[in-house]
Amino acid sequence: DEIPVLTVDGPGGAGKGTVSRLIAERLGWHLLDSGALYRLTALAALKHGLALDDEAALASCAATLDVRFVACAGETRIELEGRDVSGDIRTEQVGDAASQVASLPRVREALLMRQRDFRDWPGLVADGRDMGTVVFPRASLKIYLTASAEERARRRHEQLLNAGRDANLTSLLEEIKARDTRDMQRAVAPLKPADDAVLLDSTSLAIPDVVECIERLLSARG
Ligand code: C5P
Repeated sequence: DEIPVLTVDGPGGAGKGTVSRLIAERLGWHLLDSGALYRLTALAALKHGLALDDEAALASCAATLDVRFVACAGETRIELEGRDVSGDIRTEQVGDAASQVASLPRVREALLMRQRDFRDWPGLVADGRDMGTVVFPRASLKIYLTASAEERARRRHEQLLNAGRDANLTSLLEEIKARDTRDMQRAVAPLKPADDAVLLDSTSLAIPDVVECIERLLSARG
């Protein structure tokens, strides 16, 4: 029998991360946050002073990435070169750099096997942009989760304010649109629903409703 995989793809801010984590917890499955791998590559590149268009250097950086995902108290601590970078990788600057390095084919290639290695019993929930189209094309269930850019900007704004950070709704919306365009228009593994993906729009859905909907789809396939 094959190890089951649930893929959750879509643009940033649609709720993929939270939904994937909740489903993985409820099912006791492993979780792959593939965006974190691109963010870690970008952070390592920024730290080591690599140019964000030096494909050869970035690909070898991705291939030799020294990272650890440490599960503790329902959260995952992410370490780069032995240092906790869980907060550092979530900044807009790193997100933007991640989307730049993610457009380079050799970087994507270098991270491919690392992502597939997350597939283990009893199952995997894989969160990203190309989980259903490229990394796990034979997944048991593929979800494409979206929400309007305005709603995603509003949620991100609220998150930042709650975290005590400064945030401007208009510039967040601009950044989200720019990132969407770059992710959807790149030549390799562009953001798009797999042909066999189920489309879910979370613009007016709460997280628990999305989780319930996906669980129902999963058990119908099971
Ligand atoms: O999902 P997250 O915002 O953490 O991803 C950061 C960036 O990494 C995205 O904007 C996207 O360009 C890239 N990414 C990707 N493929 C994935 C996951 C993320 O290209 N599977």
